[in-house]
Amino acid sequence: MSSSFSIDYADRIQTLPPYLFAAIDKKKAEVKARGVDIIDLGVGDPDLPTPAHIVSALQHAAAKKENHRYPSYVGMPAFREAAAQWLSRRFDLDCDPASEILSLIGSKEGIAHIPFAFVNPGDYVLVPDPGYPVYAVATGFAGGLVHKMPLLEKNGFLPDLEAIPDDIARRAKLMFINYPNNPTGAVADEDFFERVIIFARRHNIIVCHDAAYTELAYQDYRPLSFLQVPGAKEVGIEFHSLSKTYNMTGWRIGFAAGNAEIVNGLGKVKTNIDSGAFQAIQEAAIVALSADQHCVAELCRIYQQRQDLMVNALQTAGFDLAVPKATFYLWIKNPVGMDSAGVASMLLEQAGVVVTPGNGFGDAGEGYFRISLTVPEDRLREAGERIIKAIG
Ligand SMILES: *Cc1c(COP(=O)(O)O)cnc(C)c1O
Repeated sequence: MSSSFSIDYADRIQTLPPYLFAAIDKKKAEVKARGVDIIDLGVGDPDLPTPAHIVSALQHAAAKKENHRYPSYVGMPAFREAAAQWLSRRFDLDCDPASEILSLIGSKEGIAHIPFAFVNPGDYVLVPDPGYPVYAVATGFAGGLVHKMPLLEKNGFLPDLEAIPDDIARRAKLMFINYPNNPTGAVADEDFFERVIIFARRHNIIVCHDAAYTELAYQDYRPLSFLQVPGAKEVGIEFHSLSKTYNMTGWRIGFAAGNAEIVNGLGKVKTNIDSGAFQAIQEAAIVALSADQHCVAELCRIYQQRQDLMVNALQTAGFDLAVPKATFYLWIKNPVGMDSAGVASMLLEQAGVVVTPGNGFGDAGEGYFRISLTVPEDRLREAGERIIKAIG
């Protein structure tokens, strides 16, 4: 039987950039097949378990039959209330749970859907480079055009708003920013957020602040919420995640907060695509947000130790890097004369250590590689020793 049937992916799929970790995964499999004990510092997924009181809350909530039905699209009132109170305690924000907060199935879900609410085909979206790949991909899915904002070391890895051409700014609908930043570990101060607000008002651009790492910070540093800065709620929305703060990446829960009309626009998209987050998970998330935050302080303490250890090892090996005030990443300059893919390959071949080449996060990430501190301390120590040996 002859068949003329053919499966053709839509252009938006065919034009996707290659999956960031695909090339690394392949190489990793090859090295592993040779019997090398690989230490993976590539993926930013916490190794530590979700705190026990949150797991218990889920176990309890999962048994309740009223939680087995469709949840509310926008999130349970109690979940939105807990999110508002957390924002108030943590950042002194005043958000109305009914109109200014929306539950998300992980913050990635909200980030991926927001262009559908505000971007028409041909509109521009301003996207950081290097950056979390979802910003650009979601823009493309919605038919938007990406304008990359390079994050350069000389600017503290903040975008240079002056460098955005006027004709692009005029046609831009959204701007994504993310501080504390993945992958650079950079943080933003109030002055930067103020400049973003002025720029956004001048050009009528909605600001989407990805706040996934506000709770993972070191020493006495306390990252800001974009919404703390006067005028932010007029122009913006902030994406919060429980994933990194409470080691809950697999649970898929987060929330958006900010301007009511922007929140409502995102809600309109979601109502037509998903049916909200499992209520039992929302109940456990209420416990996470409302209980004593000692577990978060403890998590930061652990990451701090890991950071000290790895920074020491990398400096001993001769690498050039800044010590981040927040996030569980290190963003490290390539040795002179090597590109990012070359360093990643060399560390895998000679040390059995997986790192992420910086150009995987965008062209402006070339010249760097990223290490994630999401493996236990003994493995991190071993990785550091192997890197020193391989380079030294
Ligand atoms: C991990 C991460 C997210 C996604 O978090 P989820 O809430 O698990 O979807 C969003 N943005 C950045 C920059 C991240 O690193």
